[in-house]
Amino acid sequence: MAKLTLENLIEQNKINGKRILVRVDFNVPLDENRNITDDKRITASLPTINAITGNGGKCILMSHLGRPKGERNMKYSLDVAAEKLSELTGKKVIFAEDCIGDKNPQMISGMKSGDIMLLENLRFYKEEEKNDPEFAKKLASYGDVYVNDAFGTAHRAHASTEGVTHFIKDCAAGFLMQKELKYLMAAIDNPERPLVAILGGSKISGKIDVLENLINIADTILIGGGMMYTFYKAMGLEIGKSLLEEDKIELAKQILQKAKDKNKNFLLPVDMVVTDKIDGTSTSSVAAFDKLTDINLMGVDIGPETVRMYSDEIIKGKTIVWNGPMGVFEVDEFAKGTFAIAEALANATAKGAVTIIGGGDSGAAIAKANLSDKVSHVSTGGGASLELLEGKVLPGVAALTDM
Ligand code: AMP
Repeated sequence: MAKLTLENLIEQNKINGKRILVRVDFNVPLDENRNITDDKRITASLPTINAITGNGGKCILMSHLGRPKGERNMKYSLDVAAEKLSELTGKKVIFAEDCIGDKNPQMISGMKSGDIMLLENLRFYKEEEKNDPEFAKKLASYGDVYVNDAFGTAHRAHASTEGVTHFIKDCAAGFLMQKELKYLMAAIDNPERPLVAILGGSKISGKIDVLENLINIADTILIGGGMMYTFYKAMGLEIGKSLLEEDKIELAKQILQKAKDKNKNFLLPVDMVVTDKIDGTSTSSVAAFDKLTDINLMGVDIGPETVRMYSDEIIKGKTIVWNGPMGVFEVDEFAKGTFAIAEALANATAKGAVTIIGGGDSGAAIAKANLSDKVSHVSTGGGASLELLEGKVLPGVAALTDM
């Protein structure tokens, strides 16, 4: 799926003096005083923004922030992102207080090469998520070319990710989008093998399609997190009061059978950390996978033997993808398994493996372990990376101009 890129647009001299409409993902976390607590999503798009301004383009940025549900709610104003971007670029970012305001065309025609404008939150209009053609057309009128750098929302067909592409001829992937696709698509389409997939998180139900797809393409699948207990139950084991999805036991059985039929190295933990309170206020101990018979106990992390076993598998991998924590990593005491897996990925990377962390909780976990820069790629999009791992085509990517 070769798509037009920002790099191509620069080579084709389609940036200098032109209006470049860019969808970014500035959906940053804010505290109660509306301070940005993590500006990673803004810094992640700086290469694209700087390349546009550096090549003489007029950069018109658009994004969503939070869930204002189609109404103007200043709690979700992107004004704070404009300020932060001014700080990061050293340029005064022009802020358009309404993403489709009447004054916008005039403000844009007053822009000089190298200027940056940020439009107010797209989701102040319900038309954004509805992919309304008239709304999309208005946005599209602000740009000569379109660049999508918002990987985090590429799995949604919204006006700013899909609709606009019907009204602009050249629609390209920005640098962040390109990087995300490079790592994630290569892992799925043409991975260097062995491909090791590590899946954790709370439930099977949120990851059924990923499990199904990865069983087809991965060589080794390592399971952890809350979902492991439904697999144990499917195997006829006791699981105490661990997280169980009763209605997914049958599915777990089918997945185990499929892995066997396909001769995959499908591994479940051999030991676990157990406790009677999930919040870490009680004592904990290690139990073998077939010894969780006390109905007052629950499994909250993978155990040390599993860490050794999984680390041995991870180090054998040439491509490794990881989605979902191995335990309740928010509680320090139960984060050890997740951190040890993060460490194993860092070691595999140092040995030359390509290591990819799906966004969301695994991204948060690797950041908490201080190892984000020791792996090949940490995705900025939890949902979008999951959909790619499910083998789906992202509408925001499909809509870009074919090469
Ligand atoms: P997900 O959003 O499905 O990736 O799940 C992430 C959540 O799974 C995190 O908040 C973890 O605390 C939780 N989790 C991981 N392992 C367990 C477990 N053994 N029991 C309950 N929750 C878990």
